[in-house]
Amino acid sequence: MTDYTIDIPSYTVGVNAYKEIPKYCRPYGRKAVVIGGRKAMAAAREKLVRACEGSDIEILDFVLYGNEASYEAAEALEEMEPVQKADFIFAVGGGKAVDTTKLVAIALEKPFFTFPTLASNCAAASSLAIVYHPDGSFRDFVHYVDTTKHVFIDTDIIAHAPDEYLWAGIGDTCAKYFEVTTSAKGEKLPHYIRTGVNMSRLCMEILVDYGEQALRDNRQGLASEAMEECALAIIMTTGWVSMLVAREHNMDYNGGIAHALFYSLCEIPGFEADHIHGVVVGFGILMQLLMNGEEEECERMKEFNRRIGLPTSLRDMGVTVEDVAKVAERIIRDEDLEHFPYKPTVDQIMAAAERLK
Ligand SMILES: [Zn+2]
Repeated sequence: MTDYTIDIPSYTVGVNAYKEIPKYCRPYGRKAVVIGGRKAMAAAREKLVRACEGSDIEILDFVLYGNEASYEAAEALEEMEPVQKADFIFAVGGGKAVDTTKLVAIALEKPFFTFPTLASNCAAASSLAIVYHPDGSFRDFVHYVDTTKHVFIDTDIIAHAPDEYLWAGIGDTCAKYFEVTTSAKGEKLPHYIRTGVNMSRLCMEILVDYGEQALRDNRQGLASEAMEECALAIIMTTGWVSMLVAREHNMDYNGGIAHALFYSLCEIPGFEADHIHGVVVGFGILMQLLMNGEEEECERMKEFNRRIGLPTSLRDMGVTVEDVAKVAERIIRDEDLEHFPYKPTVDQIMAAAERLK
C-alpha cells in the first residue's frame, strides 16, 4: 500500500456566493487577477468588484483569456504584469477560460479560484484541462493539475446564460454515470474510486429529477432550486467524480461509448461545427445502454431525452447509419474505451446504430 492524498474542491453556491471570496482567498494572499471570457466577465465583473470592496482583497486587473484554451493563450497571459504580480488567479467563464487559467496556474505556480458562469461542464471543479490549438482544433488533455482552491457558483449569473449550455450539460453529465459505472463494472476498487463510482449516480439522478424544470427556469432567468440542483450536479458532482475515478493514468474510469461516439463522429468533416458535444454524448448514452443489453434503462433515458429535447435517434442529429459505419472502427479504438468491461465490436456498434436510426 502506498500513501496517497485526495484533494477535492469545496464550493459556495447561491445568488450571493461571491460574498465568501475574502474568507476563502485570504489564506493565499491579497492580490487577485481575473482571467475570463468576454461575456463571462461582463456578467460577473460588477459582482466580483462588489464582493472585494471593503475587504483586503485587491483585484489588480481583468484580462481576457483569448479565444482558445491553448498553450499560446496561456503563454501570452503569463507575460502580463498583473498576472505575474497576483497572489492568485480568479478564473471566470464556461470552460475554456477556466482551462486556460489552469495552464497559467501550472506555469506560474499560483493558486486559482473558479467562478463558473454556465452550467455546462465540470471544468471549474475538475483537475483536467482540455487544450486546443489556436485554430480551435483539439490538441491535448492535461491531467492532474492542482485543483481550484474553491468554486464560487453564482446561480443568478448561471440562470441568465443561454439555456443551450444547460441543455448540452445535462446530456454530458448524465453520461458520466453510465460511462463510469460501466467502466468499473465487476472490479474491486480502492476507496476513492469506489466513492466516485457510487457518487456518479447523482450525475444522472439529479438531472432526471430537476433537468426539465431547470431548463424552463433558465429560459426565464430564474435562479430556482432546480437551477441550483442542476448546476451543482453538472459542475461539482461531475468534477468530483472525474477526479476520484481518474487519480492515476492507468486507472481512468471516465469515458465510454457515448464519448467514443462523439469523438469518432467528429472525424466526419463538418460534424463538430454543427453539433454540440453534450447533445451528441446525451444520445450516445442510448447506444451504450443497448450495447450493454440494458434495454429498460435505454427506454427510460430515451423518454427523458424526449422530454427535454435531446436526440433519441441518429436522424435527430442528422446522422445516418452509413455515417456510423464509416467511424465504427474508430469508435472501438477510442481511448475512452481503454478501461471497459468488454471489447466492443463493430457488429455491436452497427446493431445499436440500426436500432437507433
Ligand atoms: Zn463530455
